[in-house]
Amino acid sequence: MTDTSLYDYLERIASLMRAWAREQPLMADLQPIQLSALNYLARCNRYSNTPLAVTDYLGLTKGTVSQSLKALEAKGLIRKRPDAQDRRSVHLELTAAGQGMIESLVPPAFLRRAEDALGERGELLVVLLRELLATIQRQEDVPGFGLCRTCRFHQRLDEGAHCGLTGEHLEPREGELICREHRAPDEAA
Ligand code: SF4
Repeated sequence: MTDTSLYDYLERIASLMRAWAREQPLMADLQPIQLSALNYLARCNRYSNTPLAVTDYLGLTKGTVSQSLKALEAKGLIRKRPDAQDRRSVHLELTAAGQGMIESLVPPAFLRRAEDALGERGELLVVLLRELLATIQRQEDVPGFGLCRTCRFHQRLDEGAHCGLTGEHLEPREGELICREHRAPDEAA
């Protein structure tokens, strides 16, 4: 029989997180998909904070994501900013209220406590889960959305980090953000 352990563990943890979210007073006015979109926008870089990128990341329909983004904007959790070069395209940014909401909710306290209890093995688990995700993305040909500092285009120069794809300078904190243009080091351009 096929071993279903990995699926079972991931599914159980996901259901615990869903149950936890339903109990949070801050989530009373927020649907889970809205929290997912808000969390993505808190984690992604300046090339990846468009409505289309949110749609691709969440793997949902354009209409569903558009409704969620409208709701987040109406609640004052995100705001739109026109692109400096192309005024027809917009970027989505968290407001101070949105940032506060994410900092209060993510990660769930129970998950943080369990990760702390694992000590160094918790760090190893994060590395393994990142590798698992990268493997799935590579094998199934789904959008990368990886961490900038792990990208094949991420260059460390004397004057700081640089994106070899866009040719732009990267601030130190941008290395820790998610990018929709991310390519794994062993991936063809
Ligand atoms: S280095 Fe890669 S991940 Fe970082 S901004 Fe450039 S394309 Fe995106």
